[in-house]
Amino acid sequence: MTRPYDLAVVGAGIVGMACALAAARRGKRVVVVDRDAQANGASVRNFGFVTVTGQERGAMWERARRSRDTWAEVAPQAGIPILHRGLVMAVRRPEAVSLLEAFLKTEMAEGCRLLTAGEVRRDHPHLAGEGLMAALWSPHDLRVESRVAIPRLAAWLAASHRVDFLWGAAALSVETGRLETTQGVIEAGAICVCPGDDLSTLFPECVAAAGLTRCKLQMLRLADPGFRLPAAVMSDLGLVRYAGYAALPQAKALAARLAAEQPQHLADGVHLIVVQSADGSLVVGDSHHYAATPDPFSHEAVDRLILEEFAAVFGRPAPPVVERWTGTYASAKDRTVLVDTPMAGVRLVMVTTGAGASIGFALGEEVVSDLLGNGARA
Ligand SMILES: Cc1cc2nc3c(=O)[nH]c(=O)nc-3n(C[C@H](O)[C@H](O)[C@H](O)COP(=O)(O)OP(=O)(O)OC[C@H]3O[C@@H](n4cnc5c(N)ncnc54)[C@H](O)[C@@H]3O)c2cc1C
Repeated sequence: MTRPYDLAVVGAGIVGMACALAAARRGKRVVVVDRDAQANGASVRNFGFVTVTGQERGAMWERARRSRDTWAEVAPQAGIPILHRGLVMAVRRPEAVSLLEAFLKTEMAEGCRLLTAGEVRRDHPHLAGEGLMAALWSPHDLRVESRVAIPRLAAWLAASHRVDFLWGAAALSVETGRLETTQGVIEAGAICVCPGDDLSTLFPECVAAAGLTRCKLQMLRLADPGFRLPAAVMSDLGLVRYAGYAALPQAKALAARLAAEQPQHLADGVHLIVVQSADGSLVVGDSHHYAATPDPFSHEAVDRLILEEFAAVFGRPAPPVVERWTGTYASAKDRTVLVDTPMAGVRLVMVTTGAGASIGFALGEEVVSDLLGNGARA
């Protein structure tokens, strides 16, 4: 039996580490256990796109703003480069322009601007697709390279906040004050279970009651195109996936037009996000397929849809693909997060939409504040 901790966290993805940070900042003794040798789940497979613009109005948007601020604060301390600041949503349909105009009238668009096609061509000459009509410019979003950021976050938590990490330790069972792992039992005053999309190992009854399934995404890395993106790029298809836009009444007309013009993109849940890495390569995606156990395969036809949209937005064929991977996250139809209390002193914490990098820090802060109280920052 190891010495007691104030908080034990299951899962070293962004959600688990956010809980660890919030507790460590309160001066608490924290241990994080993960069954893998290093984080290998959704948190290292994503775009690293800390998306504020377009998050669902209300709690999600607020969480995204707070999490973005935490990323901006923590990144320089942890040696994590911030590679983009902002978002350019380049659209080529009048229905999309109307939707963006409506979005600009909401509180969520504070600081955002609608660029004319001429302004886009001047400020973002790489967006050379035919039929470009306008673009939303938002300064609010950030991008980090997740496969670099997540390990550095763990190393920083260990070095600067004395968080212990137990790698290669699967959590087998949880009781109040007691976490049993494949590397022994840990005593802890409180326990946060942040298992990502593992729906069956711990508290499967809570997961089943919340109606969770899993979502599979296909991702691509493209060779350096020879231009530099200052900000993430999205297109019309993203406007019907992100609730901050999609919940506005003007989204209906755009959805109808997309259903007529890009039905296969909608069927495969394809929309376009393009971000750039330090070496110039582009991370491009993605698609959305839902199943309790999604297949692990990257389907060429789906990749082609993503690359078609890239070509339409950039006005040139996509550069060669240099890497392909899939990722999965927990998903629910009617909720964006699951925070449950299966027993006293224990929380099950899951992000149930594709936004853990964007809202994780705020969610961890909320959960830990509820579990451990609002102690002073350590
Ligand atoms: C391809 C892709 C692109 C995405 N793009 C974005 C994006 O750009 N922006 C954004 O905000 N979100 C994005 N998301 C969503 C985001 O990545 C997830 O919401 C987030 O990473 C979930 O974090 P997590 O810590 O809950 O899960 P994970 O990162 O999956 O971590 C869970 C960890 O728990 C461990 N674990 C599980 N069960 C046990 C157990 N019993 N014992 C020990 N360890 C256990 C696992 O090993 C894993 O390391 C994307 C997701 C994917 C897949």
